[in-house]
Amino acid sequence: MSFRGILMFASVLMIISGCTPETNKSSTENKVEEYQPAVPLPEFNADSAFTFLKQQVDFGPRIPGTKAHSQCADWMKSIMLSYGLEVTEQNGMMKTYDGKSFNLRNIISVYRPDLKRRLLLCAHWDTRPFADRDESNNDKPFAGANDGASGIAVLMEIARLIQESKPDIGIDFIFFDLEDYGDADGKVPDSWCLGSQFWSKNLHVAGYSPVYGILLDMVGGKDAIFPKEGTSMRYAPGVVNKVWSLARSLGYTMFVNNVGPETTDDHLYINKIAGIPCIDIVHYEVAKMDYMSCHHRHCDNLSIIDPVVMKIVGHVVMEVIHREAAMKL
Ligand SMILES: [Zn+2]
Repeated sequence: MSFRGILMFASVLMIISGCTPETNKSSTENKVEEYQPAVPLPEFNADSAFTFLKQQVDFGPRIPGTKAHSQCADWMKSIMLSYGLEVTEQNGMMKTYDGKSFNLRNIISVYRPDLKRRLLLCAHWDTRPFADRDESNNDKPFAGANDGASGIAVLMEIARLIQESKPDIGIDFIFFDLEDYGDADGKVPDSWCLGSQFWSKNLHVAGYSPVYGILLDMVGGKDAIFPKEGTSMRYAPGVVNKVWSLARSLGYTMFVNNVGPETTDDHLYINKIAGIPCIDIVHYEVAKMDYMSCHHRHCDNLSIIDPVVMKIVGHVVMEVIHREAAMKL
């Protein structure tokens, strides 16, 4: 995900997007409908999600063109297949900003392809090839425990749980490749999010139009905070507001009502190119105008992961799925 552009536009966007303190909550807080499923939803298992995260990290940094990358893709497919989903892979040769070429591997897992009403759940799985925001060894790779692995881990746990809870709504899980191989200097346009750009131009089903999408990025870090991300507010404010209201009604105050700046993440292209409303749940510290403190640094490793944060995000998304299935959101 790009960083430099954010700082440049930060002050302007603070004004445009109305970065407001928490006192102004009544205007954005939606009424959350009563919803009691016939059978209680299965509990999101933090240990299981952590195991999914650790397995990805154990492969090594999932850098395009490496053995760890290819092993991780095969493993993710096998897990999603084992949960009874229809799994396909989208490939294409992608050119990165530094002139290299890689075979893209977007992993697409489909639940209930027969249903018309659908949700898109997505995250990126690749690791940035260098910790270029670090003070030292900034040409060396990092583990990508939070940036990359956490979003995939939460989605894998959800895929496991819906085998049991069987929501009456179709779900498409998309694990995007080549999100994080962008030009940090911002000189090459559209150099980030190559996997989601490709998918947005080549939808896995012709005319695909889910109700909306939710992207997860950096959803496992200690002391996470999730402001309403600016690009999501530009394209899909209604979705953001209802998901945040739901999260807060569940007691999860880390979903704050502050609006952050517009960031470049996979959801930008899903909105812009595919025309699908898609929001981003991403750890961003509005007070510092920056992502989590280990963003693209060597400290993005297992030591900063708090499985409870993944559990909170996973619980919110599980509630969203089942409420949308019951038309109660
Ligand atoms: Zn990143």
